[in-house]
Amino acid sequence: MAFSDKLEHWFNDNGRTLPWRGIDDPYRIWVSEIILQQTRIEQGWDYYHRFVAAFPTVSSLAKATEEQVLKVWQGLGYYSRARNMHAAAQYIMHECQGHFPQSYSEILKLKGVGRYTAAAIASFAFKLPYPVIDGNVYRFISRLRGISTPIGTTTAYNEFERVLSTLIDTLHPDRFNAAMMDFGALQCKPQPDCTACPFSDECVALQTMRVDLLPIKAAKQRPTDRWFYYLDIRWTTGDTRFMTIRQRTGDDIWKGLFEFDLLEAEHRLDDNELREAVVSYISARYHVANPVFSVGKELTHQLTHRTIHARFVSVELAQPPDVMPQGIEAIECAKINNIPIPKLIDRYLHQL
Ligand code: SF4
Repeated sequence: MAFSDKLEHWFNDNGRTLPWRGIDDPYRIWVSEIILQQTRIEQGWDYYHRFVAAFPTVSSLAKATEEQVLKVWQGLGYYSRARNMHAAAQYIMHECQGHFPQSYSEILKLKGVGRYTAAAIASFAFKLPYPVIDGNVYRFISRLRGISTPIGTTTAYNEFERVLSTLIDTLHPDRFNAAMMDFGALQCKPQPDCTACPFSDECVALQTMRVDLLPIKAAKQRPTDRWFYYLDIRWTTGDTRFMTIRQRTGDDIWKGLFEFDLLEAEHRLDDNELREAVVSYISARYHVANPVFSVGKELTHQLTHRTIHARFVSVELAQPPDVMPQGIEAIECAKINNIPIPKLIDRYLHQL
């Protein structure tokens, strides 16, 4: 039996039901693929529904403000994905007359869309024969063919794409790709049951006893440490509580999200160093002498490439600061939930 027939047979009996399966709307496929890039399916499912409910079309996404898009994305991480989708939606509306690009090369021009996502949209929406290569497909093919090139590299992508282009069902590339991803996720799992596998007679890894050794993963970069000291500055005017916030800018994590004024250090500050730093920072920036404040315990927040060690300094002012530093604004405390904030800030606010 041909490879694709065996796979199709397995898929008919075992394929997963996913909310975006069977959809051929390129916009929804794009949203689902971008969300799932760094997210587990269970979590991605909720965000997918929330996102398409808030922005049901490319046009509605293009018309939204970046803050609205980031708010819906809040908690999902990798915020550049949301910013890129927003920019790409505007590109589709302005440069493509509102028509979603229909060829692989045109889809690849969308901001934030790489070869994996372009292949997914091209095959699922437009039935074009481009293989989708996610972690599950890498695992299955590296074992099936005994490929030991470290995955996650451009060299590996090229090599696996060549192999898959000889296997893909060109009449039904959408079903083929879905079946490949499901096969890797459900059958050729990290610890597979090879006795139940329809490919056991041709699997190189099984025959050479390398199932546990493949795929080879490229060495991971160790996350770098960063030390954040946030100043949660508040005061009361009349019956209303106010706080200060700022929007993150520049080429760094959480761009576009809001947070408290931040004192970032090169290393962990002990309590005395922190107290001295806070007093001089508040005096220099807000012209407040002898501020009343308390310091919370360290919270650790893990990102893929960074470990954030954060402490929140709660500062109570008797009145609004005379001087508001550049980039800092005052908002009513009750309104903090209406704006996009990093998960770390959300965690802190929930702890209060
Ligand atoms: S025999 Fe085992 S390792 Fe090989 S493809 Fe099947 S499940 Fe994967």
